Amino acid sequence: MSLADGDLRPVGADGTPHPRGAGGDLHPRGAGGDLHPNGAAGDLPPDVLRASFHRAADLVADYLETVGSRPVLPRVAPGAFAATIPAAPPESAEPLDRILADYRTLVEPAVTHWNHPGFFAYFAISGSGPGIAGEMLAAGLNVNAMLWRTGPAPTELEERVCDWLRALMGLPEEFRGHINDTASIGTFLALAAARHRARPDVRELGSAGRADLPAMVVYASEHAHSSVDKAVLALGLGLANLRRIPADAAHRLRPEALAAAVTADRAAGRLPVAVVATAGTTSSTSVDPLREVAEIAGRERLWLHVDAAYAGSAAVCPEMRPLFAGVGSADTIVVNPHKWLFTPVDCSVLFARDPAGLREAFTLVPEYLRTADAGVTNLMDYGIQLGRRFRALKLWMVIRAYGAEGLRSRIRTHCALAREFAGWIEEHPGFELAAPVPFSVVCFRAICGTSDEERDRFNERLLEAVNAAGPVFLSHTRLGGRVVLRLAIGNIRTGRAHVAGAWEIVRARAAELARAGGTAWTSPA
Ligand code: PLP
Repeated sequence: MSLADGDLRPVGADGTPHPRGAGGDLHPRGAGGDLHPNGAAGDLPPDVLRASFHRAADLVADYLETVGSRPVLPRVAPGAFAATIPAAPPESAEPLDRILADYRTLVEPAVTHWNHPGFFAYFAISGSGPGIAGEMLAAGLNVNAMLWRTGPAPTELEERVCDWLRALMGLPEEFRGHINDTASIGTFLALAAARHRARPDVRELGSAGRADLPAMVVYASEHAHSSVDKAVLALGLGLANLRRIPADAAHRLRPEALAAAVTADRAAGRLPVAVVATAGTTSSTSVDPLREVAEIAGRERLWLHVDAAYAGSAAVCPEMRPLFAGVGSADTIVVNPHKWLFTPVDCSVLFARDPAGLREAFTLVPEYLRTADAGVTNLMDYGIQLGRRFRALKLWMVIRAYGAEGLRSRIRTHCALAREFAGWIEEHPGFELAAPVPFSVVCFRAICGTSDEERDRFNERLLEAVNAAGPVFLSHTRLGGRVVLRLAIGNIRTGRAHVAGAWEIVRARAAELARAGGTAWTSPA
């Protein structure tokens, strides 16, 4: 495996897991409780902390080296894990080595292994080595960068690293970014800014009981993520005022349907406010026609928010940028480095063409947070949250540790693997592709059974059987009303062998199920 294919040090390259993870004593001066008796002030002794940090680092390294040999889905029944944790908190202090041992024996086996190379469900993600190191360092600093004053480096690194990401993605220079936990929050902030631009009086007066305020309407494709619904819901716009615009056969929003919906709403006295276009939809990774949507948004004075939470990372590859043509006309764009840019959860960047729009919607400075600092950014002004984690550190470390070249080659590897898997599906008479494959997700289904409903049930059973095998985890969706399976490639440790292994399991389980059910294994044509 080459450097370009995985994390910085290939998994298992030097053989067995690190021996230090297995034993040792974090309490060189004796059993734990007596080192920090109840009522003592302050943190644990420095030598105890140092030893525990080393142990924790070894646990992480051991986990990453061995995760691929575990079943992706833990074999635990609901409630089984909780039963291992005492119902009452401990009265006396416990030694850290005992707590870390419990972490290893109780917690690790009961998690779903998102860092597993066989994790192909939803959108696969990566806690890469540099990103994990960034998380550890950020935890040590424990900075709360609500104001520039409370975190000069975190504030300025966040601005700089978002500029880096903008440059990596080839976005226009006027975009400025800030980091939130999730795309759901980014989309919420974007739609709040859209509402503010349309009706700034809502900030003071609210929208309840106002005869002078028309219903404000948001548009998104039928395939847009549910975070759009949640934003509309949280903003009090009302789900009835979210128009789900029909998509074409390739699952892309139909611009003429969008234009017609806006016209109808205006004619009915409603106020069209924003459109959310998706670049990389959750089900099939389709890309809405951004140029056409932007043209309608410009004409109709709609805020254009582009949800590129998953696929935005692909724009680091110049050859992928034609898929995003028109994105530069957006007012806001959300992209999640914690989805496909090898950065641990959570890290979502919201770019705004004019950040003043966000600031005007959200700035509110209580007396105790006033400072005389001039010419600085106070990140609390750009959204709901006051306190903020130092998320930029891990993104900075990821981008530096792989470089633009390394990021591109990993994205390209994932896309090439997805194309190869899609080719195997196309060649097999018992399977069919359910959508085009523009990025690293393949939607497919087995063709087994004589009616659509029978085939749906077969594919549901197939998914269960594939996931029960252990080495892989896939998820499903519905496209055109039919059940389809999704293979999402995105973990930094996933290589060709893992994708080929997934294909072998899918084929074998499909054949077993067909045999067991006496069902005809139909060929596509
Ligand atoms: N947008 C898209 C297209 C998604 O697929 C998802 C989640 O998978 C989201 C938004 C929500 O992301 P987050 O979990 O960061 O809120």
